[in-house]
Amino acid sequence: MDAYKATVVAREVYGKNVTLFFKTNMPNYESGQYITIVFEDTEIPEGKSYSLSSAPFEDVHSITIKPIGEYSDRLCDMQPGDEFLHTEAYGYFNIKTDRPLVCLAAGVGISPIWSVIKQTRHDSEREITLAYSGSSLSSMPFVDDIKNFNELNVSFHVTQEDSPYRSDRISAKDYIKGGAVYLICGPVEFTRDMWEQLVNLGISEIDISTEVFFE
Ligand SMILES: Cc1cc2nc3c(=O)[nH]c(=O)nc-3n(C[C@H](O)[C@H](O)[C@H](O)COP(=O)(O)OP(=O)(O)OC[C@H]3O[C@@H](n4cnc5c(N)ncnc54)[C@H](O)[C@@H]3O)c2cc1C
Repeated sequence: MDAYKATVVAREVYGKNVTLFFKTNMPNYESGQYITIVFEDTEIPEGKSYSLSSAPFEDVHSITIKPIGEYSDRLCDMQPGDEFLHTEAYGYFNIKTDRPLVCLAAGVGISPIWSVIKQTRHDSEREITLAYSGSSLSSMPFVDDIKNFNELNVSFHVTQEDSPYRSDRISAKDYIKGGAVYLICGPVEFTRDMWEQLVNLGISEIDISTEVFFE
């Protein structure tokens, strides 16, 4: 697989989580896809995957990282001017359809979902619902962008601090919508829980797409 060199142009910090904005000459990609980043001086030559939080129509690419180990810590420490190697984008997270879209995200799991939401609204007036959960508002990427986003039904669930938003965990039954497709992204426990709730509520497995980041 071809390798591409990315140059960091900006960073944004949300608590410990970081969005890196970068320029690269990789080929076009689809919303919801991920790249594999390779640090050649580590013992993991196959690299690690990071979903693109940018949308294909945007000029600058971005990834959003939670620091939990070697790769993620190095990425979170990167500054403008730093470079990294990566593959082209791949993956099939987004379900291609014009049906209403319901997105269930936890923490940095918002990353591919934010990519899909931005591209979907750029391309169409399709109905979009987002339920987005995090432990604290300050650690949740893109909250301000999401609040200002055009025609998005959004519920924030802030579970471990006082906020003006809901404090309960996401319950899938609150977000069932006739004829919709569902995207779920977050840690494995969240993703499995949301998937099981949807299936138990009668949603067909082919109408649910999941991406799991962490064990
Ligand atoms: C398709 C896909 C897309 C992904 N997209 C994203 C994304 O957009 N953003 C993102 O952040 N991640 C994403 N990931 C996860 C990412 O690929 C890495 O797995 C993640 O960043 C951890 O890699 P690491 O080398 O930093 O951690 P590792 O060094 O491999 O650590 C892994 C485990 O060890 C534990 N650990 C490591 N260091 C410590 C420590 N000091 N103290 C205690 N425990 C520790 C961590 O809890 C973790 O569970 C994605 C994964 C997949 C498969």
